[in-house]
Amino acid sequence: MAQVFPTIKESAGLRLPAWVHSFIQNQTYDFSQTQERMRLAIDLSRENLVQGTGGPFGAAVFELPAYRLVSVGVNVVVPQHTSLAHAEILALLLAQEALLTHDLGKRRLELVTSSQPCLQCYGAIFWSGLSRVVTGARAKDVEALAGSDEGPLPQDWEGEWRKRGISLETDVMRVQACAVLQAYQESGAPIYNPARSTP
Ligand SMILES: [Zn+2]
Repeated sequence: MAQVFPTIKESAGLRLPAWVHSFIQNQTYDFSQTQERMRLAIDLSRENLVQGTGGPFGAAVFELPAYRLVSVGVNVVVPQHTSLAHAEILALLLAQEALLTHDLGKRRLELVTSSQPCLQCYGAIFWSGLSRVVTGARAKDVEALAGSDEGPLPQDWEGEWRKRGISLETDVMRVQACAVLQAYQESGAPIYNPARSTP
């Protein structure tokens, strides 16, 4: 007799919250400036909090040399029931779909993210082929203000990337990025993946 399996899903998808497109259309940025590219990532992180559509994290992918905006991402972990759905992951997925390639190393692309990538995103960036990353808040800021455990990155995580041709600029608008994390903490929003040592 044939074995009967329960119904299983055949696909999985992530999507940007509905507000993102019009939000971007209504802003003015000079993407030739690093701070302005970071301002977009931080604005997305803040608006995601305001709209209640996920955690306080935003990211964007730009194509050099003109710094054309290719994709954006926000954290949608809780509303879309996906532990993988960090802002960086959405931005990478949507960039790869937009450019019709799994290998972002074929072009000069930069990922700008409001917070330093966690362990998952650190690996995902490596696998994406991306060549440049710009970060705002540090992992220790995220752990202190948002409560999540960012995971055991290599001690010299920056050096490991640089060895593999991924250039890095850190602490860009760190204060502003931390202000959103602080607002998240003060909002009483749920903290997911809390540090395991927390009772
Ligand atoms: Zn992450």
